Amino acid sequence: MDILSVNPLLTLLPVSHKNLASILDKEPSEEKKPIIPSENILILIWRHPKNDRLHIREAGDTDLLALKIVIEQIEIRDAAAAGGATMGFIDSVLKKAISQGIILSPKSLIHRGNALSPHGSSKLEEFRSADTFTLQWHITQACDLHCKHCYDRSNRAPLPFHIAVNILDDFYNFCHQMHVEGQVTFTGGNPLLYPDFLNIYRETSNRGFGTAILGNPSPIDQIKELVKIQMPSHFQISLEGLEQHNDMIRGKGHFQRSLYFLSQLRDMGIYTMVMLTLTRDNIDQVLPLADLLRNRADFFTFNRLSTVGEGARLLMAEPGEFQSFLKEYEIESHQNPVLGLKDNLINIVRNQNGLDLFGGCTGYGCGAAFNFVALLADGEVHACRKFPSPIGNILESRLKDIYQSELAHKYRKGSTDCKDCTLNIVCRGCLAIAYSRGLDVFKNKDPFCFRSSVTKKA
Ligand code: SF4
Ligand code: SF4
Repeated sequence: MDILSVNPLLTLLPVSHKNLASILDKEPSEEKKPIIPSENILILIWRHPKNDRLHIREAGDTDLLALKIVIEQIEIRDAAAAGGATMGFIDSVLKKAISQGIILSPKSLIHRGNALSPHGSSKLEEFRSADTFTLQWHITQACDLHCKHCYDRSNRAPLPFHIAVNILDDFYNFCHQMHVEGQVTFTGGNPLLYPDFLNIYRETSNRGFGTAILGNPSPIDQIKELVKIQMPSHFQISLEGLEQHNDMIRGKGHFQRSLYFLSQLRDMGIYTMVMLTLTRDNIDQVLPLADLLRNRADFFTFNRLSTVGEGARLLMAEPGEFQSFLKEYEIESHQNPVLGLKDNLINIVRNQNGLDLFGGCTGYGCGAAFNFVALLADGEVHACRKFPSPIGNILESRLKDIYQSELAHKYRKGSTDCKDCTLNIVCRGCLAIAYSRGLDVFKNKDPFCFRSSVTKKA
């Protein structure tokens, strides 16, 4: 099945009374509704494909709209145009019908073949297939900060608004063809400095994409305008350690500004995330900072320094020190709810401790060119932004062709060293770290990997 279809276990029954369905499908605690003679009432009766539960209720307008679109195979664009609605609205109608089991959706094509982890346990199957694809859009290079470890200060001219809208349409087609939900994570530079940011954010929302922002502390009125259009799933800012160290990297006053900004975001109900770039000089500040961020942020974690761009001026901790840190971090994550798990190598620690594995960097281990790609300001597409990994240019090729290219495939496959590891599906190390140590990312594993036997059962 590669298109939406109506649940074959669904019946649409015309009846001549309102509230008839509530007699048949109601929780014992619910009050009975009066049965009233009425015309044009349709009752939906179906079994949910996931849990086999029987549902009976009156069909609403959006149910009927979803059924009509699917039965008559109406293009979402055409349905939106005919009803004077946004494509995002039509998408939301279909998504609701899918979640309720009225409509069946084809399986996601963002999927890793079974051959990847021959020794893997069936518990890890959930990490093979992604239902959401993220376009990490570095929409502008403009930035109000000048951090010492910035990956890219190069001059890349931002694309004009009408081209940016075309990119959203291409991404829409990609998600439709791959049977996934789209998420656009705006970043930069500072994405809010893109001249037409509010409008491109609106166009993104109109197409039914989820949105998120990785940016800098910004005027709160600008954030309120965004929230009026669509609540971002999260807003992520960066801190580099405790106040003194952070301000040495990110500029004087940045730490206090950030704490205040986090409190403003939380007051607005926005999920807040803080990211730290881990170096030799701040490794001992991570857990104290996590303590300070309790009740000030929703999620805090780190990315290992990738010594590319201006990051080459800083130093990453040595593997032995990093391994001890990771073990301490994992233990502390059970005590401090703000500490999030992201680094793929934490899965080695969890595996050693007999704990469940988690999704690693992007929910599927290294997600480079798997469940996300990074789109740079000038249209270049990279497997991951943390190291030079160009796989195409969105101005020259459709995203689908870029995604299906041989090069993209090589990045998502990861290193041959990781091929037989039972943690492969949730790990594959970090290609950016291998790159920044001068290794071949397609052959050599993450140099910080400390797993002794890669074929031991996970
Ligand atoms: S060998 Fe590769 S997949 Fe296995 S733990 Fe090491 S980095 Fe991760
Ligand atoms: S290369 Fe590293 S940062 Fe990029 S997706 Fe993979 S694990 Fe994450």
